[in-house]
Amino acid sequence: MEKKDVIIIGAGVTGCAIARELAAWKLDVLVLEKEEDVCSGTSKANSAIVHAGFDAKTGSLKARFNIEGSRRMEVLAGELDFAYRKNGAFVLCFSEEERGQVQELYDRGIKNGLTAGDLEILSGDEARALEPALSDEVVCALYAKSSAIVCPFELTCALAENAVKNGTEFRFLSEVTAITREGADGFVVELAGKERVAARFVVNAAGVFADKIHNLVSGKKLSIQPRKGDYLLMDKEVGGTVDRTIFQLPGKLGKGVLVTPTVHGNLLAGPTAEDVDDPENTATTAEALADVQARAGRSVKAMPFRQVITSFTGLRAHEAGGDFVIGPCADAPGFYDAAGIESPGLTAAPAIGLYLAGEIAKAAGAERRTDFDGTRKAIPHVALMTDEERAALIRQDADYAQIVCRCETVTEGEIRESIRRNPGARSMDGVKRRVRAGMGRCQAGFCTPRVMEILSEELGIPMEEVCKNRPGSELLCTASADEGGVS
Ligand SMILES: Cc1cc2nc3c(=O)[nH]c(=O)nc-3n(C[C@H](O)[C@H](O)[C@H](O)COP(=O)(O)OP(=O)(O)OC[C@H]3O[C@@H](n4cnc5c(N)ncnc54)[C@H](O)[C@@H]3O)c2cc1C
Repeated sequence: MEKKDVIIIGAGVTGCAIARELAAWKLDVLVLEKEEDVCSGTSKANSAIVHAGFDAKTGSLKARFNIEGSRRMEVLAGELDFAYRKNGAFVLCFSEEERGQVQELYDRGIKNGLTAGDLEILSGDEARALEPALSDEVVCALYAKSSAIVCPFELTCALAENAVKNGTEFRFLSEVTAITREGADGFVVELAGKERVAARFVVNAAGVFADKIHNLVSGKKLSIQPRKGDYLLMDKEVGGTVDRTIFQLPGKLGKGVLVTPTVHGNLLAGPTAEDVDDPENTATTAEALADVQARAGRSVKAMPFRQVITSFTGLRAHEAGGDFVIGPCADAPGFYDAAGIESPGLTAAPAIGLYLAGEIAKAAGAERRTDFDGTRKAIPHVALMTDEERAALIRQDADYAQIVCRCETVTEGEIRESIRRNPGARSMDGVKRRVRAGMGRCQAGFCTPRVMEILSEELGIPMEEVCKNRPGSELLCTASADEGGVS
């Protein structure tokens, strides 16, 4: 049987961050992902905020990894060349009675490790002077200056690419169905299809499914409640409505509805919070989207909802204990959890990765690799280049002169490069997340046929096999003579 030092289950931002940090050690690491690509779970559908760290309960793992992760994210953005902008955030207070809660957040932020320079309480007028679109009802606001925004797709892809560059293997369409102990030192991991791989260490980074993976090996059960959050995404034309991320005071189910620019210049409003039974239920509802409109409209005057280009849902992995579950599993030595990674999980991922990689390397007695290369270059984005840079790139490769996605100005060269990367795009969604073809105003109405052709050419598959995402999501039908119809 094939044997690895470490198997990581799940290629979301958490699994990829752990993989990237483990790649700095002399260990043979395999990442198993049930979908066709990285960033296919919660990591693809969230607010994309690098939280400052004032919200999580002092002393919790969420607070610790939020603060460490937020600091590390900025460094990582330089090393791995992904979009990151420190735009700052406001938490709005709409009545004198709520003022105490703003002070509580400020005090908690300081206790969690932020400095007085990171946080400030502004009057309503001071806040409006910085953000003129804010509601006239705002009486004061907490200003978190170290809050930032990031591209969650680029972040996750960059972590995975850098792990691969340093020797990590990713296997997609590889769903873990069973884990059994193999002697005193290791596990056998079984995949759907019955393939088996052995490993000394197993890391559970399975998002909303992390309770199922944990409960395969442990008598101390975890229970994850998927908590759905719906969003509205608006066109770039109104991306400058606010410059900072605008929160409301947090409630029982989370941080509430925010309004924020994205790193790519869109405007985002959401999320709602609703517990659901099905961990694959990512359908938006009319009621939830109406709720987003009503609540976002309280923070920002004249929200430009006529400019909505799409809606989407993300699923929070809320563990019953309310905190992250990170570290070795007490009754299954060699098995490590990164479970219950709900918000601020995106922010925390770089710190969770560093911590768990260090713990596993220590337990394995591994040495650091001297040839570890922690850098990665982003796919060239022609739309952001100067004329000279663009001309130089086109001289090297004429595919960068062919615009395929007009809304986002994405060229054929970028799309081909997204497929050639490792791990590279294998589906329309994979291309979209890496280079934004189909992310714009027409939502892929124009570029779909050409992107399909390029995927078909690069992957060497017929057009009928090109999928939106996982197998079964093929975009074309073929006429089947035997069945006398279309299949
Ligand atoms: C509405 C919403 C808003 C949020 N906003 C923010 C924010 O602004 N800032 C922030 O810091 N955090 C935010 N978060 C939290 C953040 O998105 C998550 O914490 C983070 O993405 C979790 O990443 P993950 O890798 O743990 O999980 P996932 O991204 O879900 O990855 C888990 C992976 O495991 C795979 N998997 C599952 N089971 C198996 C199996 N049996 N075999 C193989 N693979 C398997 C899945 O397919 C998936 O790809 C938000 C979350 C939501 C839902």
